[in-house]
Amino acid sequence: MTHAEPFEARLVAARPLSPSVRELSFERADAKALSFAPGQWVNLVLPLPGGEVKRAYSIASAPDGSPRFDLAVTRVEGGAGSEYLHRLQRGEALRAIGPHGLFTRDPGDPAPALLVATGTGITPLRSMLLAALRAGLSAPPLWILFGARFEADIIYRDELEALARGSGRLRYEITLSRGGPSWPGRRGYVQAHVPELYRALAEESGDPAPHLFICGLDRMVSTVRELARGELGVPRKHVHVERFD
Ligand SMILES: Cc1cc2nc3c(=O)[nH]c(=O)nc-3n(C[C@H](O)[C@H](O)[C@H](O)COP(=O)(O)OP(=O)(O)OC[C@H]3O[C@@H](n4cnc5c(N)ncnc54)[C@H](O)[C@@H]3O)c2cc1C
Repeated sequence: MTHAEPFEARLVAARPLSPSVRELSFERADAKALSFAPGQWVNLVLPLPGGEVKRAYSIASAPDGSPRFDLAVTRVEGGAGSEYLHRLQRGEALRAIGPHGLFTRDPGDPAPALLVATGTGITPLRSMLLAALRAGLSAPPLWILFGARFEADIIYRDELEALARGSGRLRYEITLSRGGPSWPGRRGYVQAHVPELYRALAEESGDPAPHLFICGLDRMVSTVRELARGELGVPRKHVHVERFD
């Protein structure tokens, strides 16, 4: 069981994941393990010129009993919090409070799941996926559908492609809403592909009602949730959502 507590987090590494997304690796300054469930988020307390603000960020890494955890932050134009985090220097520390959230998946859960994300909505799903793969061989089929505008916006692509190649249970699908002429993959918004993938997962896994985890901005999350409950008839308890706005 995890419970939220305040702690100091120091930035130990950072790298760009795309032109607008920066991955930040923090470590608890007290060197204690950050205990959390895959899918949970932390609040960062940001000392902005106008006063402190809190911003929530889902943890992108899987819990591993260490003080370290990764976040991936989209730079929102004119967004004070995300712009601050894109400027944060290695060695600087922030107050954090967490973990929080009920959008979680038990790494040992035997139920197949379709994980749907746009943009940095992939972060909690990456945590769930890494934790499930780490939990062992009996992991059920886990399929990811990731949506972005351009090819350059696809984050964690190399890693997820490598994991999918190495595991028959993992399928990784990308759709681009503004893919260029050379893009060979799926096109359009995620919602255009959810019915086909959900039904194929049900068929392949032999489970008529796989779970659906949906994370991103409200407009996408609400659309996919309506689709799930309506057209696809996914049981209410099998639909899990997290909204970033
Ligand atoms: C539970 C939870 C988890 C979150 N996890 C993440 C995360 O892992 N990574 C992340 O980048 N953000 C995440 N967010 C959003 C984050 O908390 C901030 O809202 C975001 O960084 C914008 O803050 P800001 O101060 O820069 O801009 P603000 O001025 O506060 O926000 C401006 C607008 O930015 C938009 N926005 C918010 N998040 C995003 C986004 N990710 N991509 C595009 N537009 C966005 C919204 O429409 C918002 O109204 C999460 C939010 C919640 C509630």
